[in-house]
Amino acid sequence: MALKLPIYMDNAATTRTDPRVVEAMLPYFTEKFGNAASRNHVFGWDAEDGVETAREQAAALVGASSKEIIWTSGSTESNNLAIKGAARMYAKGPEGTKNRGHIITCVIEHKAVLDPCKRLEREGFDVTWISPPADGVVTRQMIADAIRPDTILVSIMWVNNEIGTINEVPEIGKLCHEKGIIFHTDATQWVGKMPTDVERDCIDLMSWSSHKIYGPKGVGALYVRRRNPRVRLEAIIDGGGHERGMRSGTLNVTGVVGFGKACELCREGMDADRERLYSLKQKLERELLSRLEVVQVNGHADRRVPHIANISFGYVEGESLLMGIKDIACSSGSACTSASLEPSYVLKNLGIGDELAHSSLRLSIGRWTTEAEIDYAIQAIEKSVQHLRTLSPLWDLFKEGIDVSKIEWQSH
Ligand SMILES: *Cc1c(COP(=O)(O)O)cnc(C)c1O
Repeated sequence: MALKLPIYMDNAATTRTDPRVVEAMLPYFTEKFGNAASRNHVFGWDAEDGVETAREQAAALVGASSKEIIWTSGSTESNNLAIKGAARMYAKGPEGTKNRGHIITCVIEHKAVLDPCKRLEREGFDVTWISPPADGVVTRQMIADAIRPDTILVSIMWVNNEIGTINEVPEIGKLCHEKGIIFHTDATQWVGKMPTDVERDCIDLMSWSSHKIYGPKGVGALYVRRRNPRVRLEAIIDGGGHERGMRSGTLNVTGVVGFGKACELCREGMDADRERLYSLKQKLERELLSRLEVVQVNGHADRRVPHIANISFGYVEGESLLMGIKDIACSSGSACTSASLEPSYVLKNLGIGDELAHSSLRLSIGRWTTEAEIDYAIQAIEKSVQHLRTLSPLWDLFKEGIDVSKIEWQSH
């Protein structure tokens, strides 16, 4: 099969919707188009059937019961509802007071966790921001060291979306259960790709998103534990009491049906997909490491998911590298905030210097990535890095054995 360009290697940002998912959604646009909350006619019942089937599919993927699944617009909303909803419900004091409770999270979480936690800080909650070591892994011990008598909530992501590292989530969950602390995990890069069981893994609240697992955009789920303990949340969106009062508003029926189907497909194909992606990612990393000098794979050596590789290339300029591999759609270690190009806060927090952060690539593969695409990426990246280094005076100095980092630059 001929290689089709450009190649998509940004599956951690979003995925192509599986055609089988689109197929499942279609009847709900034009035939079964009812409002799932309409009780009086078959249009409503059909829509509700679709929504409830999807709820069972989502629950089955994570070992939950369908009553524990709340539909949202995506992981950003699920994280907001989980974190603000739990903190405000279990607050130790009323609004406007201080010392309302202690929350533990981590500095390399997704912004959809960091920003709600920052808002809670302004509302009178105390937040401990754990800073993981260079390997990026948050361990049970780090949480144990941060827990206080007034801790009400721990929020730690299962997999980091930039470097693919896997945190000690089941261990942290067990610890939180022992201490009677609510545990939330942003599992957007984990669920659907790796086996999940909210009972075994001691999860109280868990966010995941349809468009990261081959479903449509704009729909997500929040798992909310109903037994041992029963977790309660203060709603963010009021208006009619849909979703057990936790998230009002007419459901995105087509989106929910597609998300349910996506969950089912992930459950069926998970083991095969995982093995395939793992060997593709291994090849990508192994080849780049062996063909090029001054390359590093970021994050823990083993505790990483099969679909994300984050690699830094020394002595090349990040922008030029991206230009050099225009046929490969991927993310870089730069975050475009307004006009300036900032290095990724995740890489920065792991102690990776600004220069190296800028010249880092996040290559994230998925269900449709082929071996031919991996081979193309390896060659294109190798060629581009080598070309850029032939133009780099710093690379020449490095090759002559001069430690560039120790040079005292003359200012004019
Ligand atoms: C993509 C992503 C989100 C945001 O999810 P949306 O559904 O796009 O709102 C949150 N957390 C992680 C880890 C992600 O990868």
